[in-house]
Amino acid sequence: MLIFYGVLIAVLALLSGAAKVDIIRSILKLSLLHCPVCENAYGRAAALSARKKYIAQCDAAQRSNPECMINFTREWEVRCPVCASTGYYGFETNVLTVQPLLGPLGE
Ligand SMILES: [Zn+2]
Repeated sequence: MLIFYGVLIAVLALLSGAAKVDIIRSILKLSLLHCPVCENAYGRAAALSARKKYIAQCDAAQRSNPECMINFTREWEVRCPVCASTGYYGFETNVLTVQPLLGPLGE
């Protein structure tokens, strides 16, 4: 039984580590992408800000609707630090668009 729990903890640790690697990889990919308007790279600060804003929006939406299971759009709204235009980065698809997939947070 002790071995089972040891293996379970190891698997959970691996999955948690894999999720963190995916997040870091998405931040890196977005930071290297170029703004479609001015063609400057977004950079790490804009990518981190986009992810942070997404998490805050999801938390706020979930808090205001605690009875709902919300399926959030899987994209970060990123603001170009040079021209301030808005892009939408699909962090699971690595696709950058100038229009949101479904509207604000999938509404
Ligand atoms: Zn730009």
